[in-house]
Amino acid sequence: MSDLQQAAVAEKEQGGFSQFGLSSEILKALADLGYKTPTPIQSKAIPYVLEGKDVMGAAQTGTGKTAGYSLPVLQSLLYFANTSVSPARHPVRMLVLVPTRELADQVYEDIKNYAKYTTLRVAVVFGGIDMSTQTGALRAGCEVLIATPGRLLDHVQQKNVSLNQTQVLVLDEADRMLDMGFMPDLQRIVSLLPKQRQNLLFSATFTDEIRKLAKQFLTDPVSVEVARKNATADTVQQIVYHVADDDKGALVEFLLKKHPNEQTLIFTNTKLGASRLARWLERRGGIKASAIHGDRTQQERMAVLESFRNGEVNVLVATDVAARGLHIEDLPFVINFELPYVAEDYVHRIGRTGRAGAQGTAVSFYTDKDTKLLAEIEKLTRKKLSPVVPEGFNPREYAMKPGGHAGRYERPELGPYHSVGLMKKKSEDPWFDRPYEPETQTGAKPSSPVKSKEKPLAFLLGGGPKKTE
Ligand code: AMP
Repeated sequence: MSDLQQAAVAEKEQGGFSQFGLSSEILKALADLGYKTPTPIQSKAIPYVLEGKDVMGAAQTGTGKTAGYSLPVLQSLLYFANTSVSPARHPVRMLVLVPTRELADQVYEDIKNYAKYTTLRVAVVFGGIDMSTQTGALRAGCEVLIATPGRLLDHVQQKNVSLNQTQVLVLDEADRMLDMGFMPDLQRIVSLLPKQRQNLLFSATFTDEIRKLAKQFLTDPVSVEVARKNATADTVQQIVYHVADDDKGALVEFLLKKHPNEQTLIFTNTKLGASRLARWLERRGGIKASAIHGDRTQQERMAVLESFRNGEVNVLVATDVAARGLHIEDLPFVINFELPYVAEDYVHRIGRTGRAGAQGTAVSFYTDKDTKLLAEIEKLTRKKLSPVVPEGFNPREYAMKPGGHAGRYERPELGPYHSVGLMKKKSEDPWFDRPYEPETQTGAKPSSPVKSKEKPLAFLLGGGPKKTE
């Protein structure tokens, strides 16, 4: 037996990736990435996907689900791998639909890495950037296509891509796709695919709506679950600090200074809140903060993310929608500056830390008006989260205004020019200072920045459905 064969046998015995009978090209790519043992979702899903079964996977981001569905599909697609330059020899065979551009980019990077020693072509399309840059890759042909639904339909319409040879459809973060109103787009896309195909659906939560979606698109699916429904990862230490609204900024500063070298992701409930908090933190000295939200262009979001990844920025302030699909290795610290309006978002938020077995801490700020939100989170996660007073924290030591008015510190949620009591500078907020405009008969405020009255919550969370694509 050669050394390589011996190593493969040893790995198999230890429960490595070769137990699934994956090809040497794929195993080599995994070895390059340092993947030694499959994560629980991978152990469970890979054999079923290899068998060609439809799979419904309950797994939150960070569990390794991307490799869970893509490795076995790549393995089956190897049969079609070829080096021909003819686009006709590279039709789309695997279509991965995702809700956001960040997730699209992340899944693309992962699958491209897994397929790097094969001749299978991987491409990605998402909104927010020029279509023409994506058209070349589509026209050249790709066996694996990762896409956000709206942009994919734009390309279909322009005849840049045909989906009639798709053998495998993956719906990744299906719950979020439904939340963002992609159902009509999904239906249109599915109508363009061959009826005979394999379907894989992954979702962090399994609501009745998701089950309905699964019933519509999947055939006799196997359910694969890695954690209890809506459970939060055990590797995340969850702390809830009871804090006065006015002291939140000071508490962020206190925590950041206590953990000076930790990459931290802070969640706010609004885009405006994210920008303001980032700006305010930047002024505290020693903190390099940046905001990421739906109003930023794709290029800006990518640039911010890159500077966070490479450590130039150590605090990223994000809204839920913008943070969806963000992938950052070993993020140790997540702060919920506000509790999310939707309990499921709490699970997604804290899932940013404690990924793939690493330890993480998730701190949430709780104020007296948050009783109901906290109760909903506790119900969903089936975990008691008792708020505690942050030990050693004296708000007056932090964020004092120059000149030192004891007890008067800025309120980041009101913007950098505000302080409690002393500074009476008028708010210059374009949102809250708008004069009241009566509703028209159709129910829309003519020049309201909130264009649709239908989705005020989605708007507050960081943007309407199409914007974030
Ligand atoms: P995902 O849930 O697919 O976003 O994956 C979360 C992170 O875990 C990604 O950075 C993957 O590269 C990484 N990962 C996935 N599977 C493994 C594995 N078996 N061993 C080590 N890291 C992994």
